[in-house]
Amino acid sequence: MISANPHIRAMAAYQLADLDSARHPTPVSLAENESLRPPSPKAVAAARAALDTAALYPDPNWTALQSALRDTYDTGGATLLCGAGSMELISSIMRSYAGPGRDVLASAYSYAFFRTAALAAGAGYVAAPEEAHRVSVDQLLAHITPATRLLCVANPGNPTGTAIPLAALQRLRANMPDDVLLVVDEAYGEFLDPYQPPALSMVSGGRTIVLRTLSKAYGLAGLRAGWGAFPEEVAREVKKTLNPNNIGSATQAAAAAAIRDQAYMHATRDETVRNRDAFTAALQHAGLSPLSSHTNFVLIPFADSAMARHVDAALQRNGLILRTMAGYGLPHCLRATIGPAKVMTEAARIIAASLKDAPG
Ligand SMILES: *Cc1c(COP(=O)(O)O)cnc(C)c1O
Repeated sequence: MISANPHIRAMAAYQLADLDSARHPTPVSLAENESLRPPSPKAVAAARAALDTAALYPDPNWTALQSALRDTYDTGGATLLCGAGSMELISSIMRSYAGPGRDVLASAYSYAFFRTAALAAGAGYVAAPEEAHRVSVDQLLAHITPATRLLCVANPGNPTGTAIPLAALQRLRANMPDDVLLVVDEAYGEFLDPYQPPALSMVSGGRTIVLRTLSKAYGLAGLRAGWGAFPEEVAREVKKTLNPNNIGSATQAAAAAAIRDQAYMHATRDETVRNRDAFTAALQHAGLSPLSSHTNFVLIPFADSAMARHVDAALQRNGLILRTMAGYGLPHCLRATIGPAKVMTEAARIIAASLKDAPG
């Protein structure tokens, strides 16, 4: 056997939700924070039309997607890079800026892929404590060392769903050393209450990256598109480690059309927020204390991990697959993606009933 690089052998594989083990003929996934409805019909039509040119490599400069983004957002002087999902951008940022002796810092219950991408780049990964499941700017600042090169904040956070205000991010940036790059991952930014556009103003300082994705509010998780706003010099170095033909033509066309259909995205956002708030209220009525969410999912703490497993089993018997949280160090929690209203009513009903029939 040829052995892989030692740092790769030492790391765990990234864990996606386990949808195959569902013991139900027609399981419904509330496990991966996908959109509660299909993508904009305009995005689907654009993807279909693009199939005719599939013999050719895709546009390496993502021209149509970039102009849709620049027409929609105030991107200022930022350089935009697009990725096969924002996960690809995260990986490339790590490959370009982290590595042996060049650590990545994030907060305790942050996006698990930050760790995977950091370790794959051969970097050390450091987690700073949170306060009440919220990112703590003071804890992050306290955990910066001379080895820190990247600081990653998902805002709103996954799996917590909590958010910190732009002013807190600005205070973080202002107090970080100049040689540490800040990555603000706004995968759920469209769901912030109240609605806020991307925090692109932070990029002009030259040391901050802001990432967004088409996988959540735009409903294109299956096509793989994300984008980021970068300082020009940082973009140059990150682009070197991207796949030069990273986003397929059908995806680029769909993503551009989806960005141009802001009305459709806002309708998805509004429906999601409505269903989320009703689901949260139903859980509270059942005596639970779900975290206050700024995303399209809710993190639900239970009395202990046995109760979380009991509730999860009841949901699974009814074909509803939530995300278990042991891998995040939160074994007493389940994370529920917000789906259509009927599904969420059913989920809340099953959760409330299973609390009552719990053993012991
Ligand atoms: C879902 C998610 C992403 C998006 O990944 P894609 O590769 O764009 O699908 C990025 N960051 C966080 C925190 C997420 O939860």
